[in-house]
Amino acid sequence: MNAQRTLRRPISCAGIGLHSGKKVTLSLKPAPSDFGIRFRRADLGGVEVAANISHLGAINLATGLTCDTVNVSTVEHLLAALISLGVDNVIVELNSAEVPIMDGSAAPFIYLIHEAGIKRLPAARRYMKILKPLSLTRGDKRIAVYPSDHFKVTYSIAFDHPLLRHQSRTIRLNEDTFVDEIAPARTFGFLKEVEWMRQQGLALGGSLENAVVIGDTGVLNNSLRFDDEFVRHKILDVVGDMALVGRPLIGHLVAHRGGHALHTEFAAMVLNETDAWTLVEVPEGTAIDGLPATQPARGAAIN
Ligand SMILES: [Zn+2]
Repeated sequence: MNAQRTLRRPISCAGIGLHSGKKVTLSLKPAPSDFGIRFRRADLGGVEVAANISHLGAINLATGLTCDTVNVSTVEHLLAALISLGVDNVIVELNSAEVPIMDGSAAPFIYLIHEAGIKRLPAARRYMKILKPLSLTRGDKRIAVYPSDHFKVTYSIAFDHPLLRHQSRTIRLNEDTFVDEIAPARTFGFLKEVEWMRQQGLALGGSLENAVVIGDTGVLNNSLRFDDEFVRHKILDVVGDMALVGRPLIGHLVAHRGGHALHTEFAAMVLNETDAWTLVEVPEGTAIDGLPATQPARGAAIN
């Protein structure tokens, strides 16, 4: 069987929340089979919020989860890293409400997971295999999923800005392609929106250290990590948001001009359309590109 996984040992890092500007310590801790991914607020007596679309909370330029009155926010980059490296079960402990933004990408979380190491658990992983197309349109924004033998994402973006008129990319995701092509892509925003965001109490921790800022004539940062870093970051976001269905997907996700609100509305819709997918186990050793590998990816010791 293709086994569920957790971390081999706990690991921590510290950073600040992009929107709150607050300092936060993040710890990732091993968890048993079928535990799933759960956020734990150490500052609130250890209360937990499962990373599931049923706990969707506020969407304020980032994805939040809520359970009773307890919130966690900006969960998407960490979730993308966990699901892409096949970490099915983990406790994500925070001492504040917002996951640290780190450098605005998922690369620091990949480093953290690799440092902790990955451990197999004695239970089969189950994937959500898409059987028929589903789509959702909101104005000029659209997202859909189609049956495929792989986990594949196509994303296109278009902005009324000379630097960012149109970008599009399709990628077959597996551990290696996620780590190399998607995880390093950083959050981005427009300079002209920064003041508005600050007035709304957002992006208080934002800086050129953790976001690509687009001015009228170019990016304010020294350089981009990829020519099309922006659309790659949108792929990172949708992978993290769709992780809220609670299982890795087997299907082709196609999005145009999406954002966290559209992604998460779609995740809820997919989960509700129970005749559009089935849960499958994948036999160990099956070479299915696009799924977390049964063999360790580079840098990821596994046992
Ligand atoms: Zn993002």
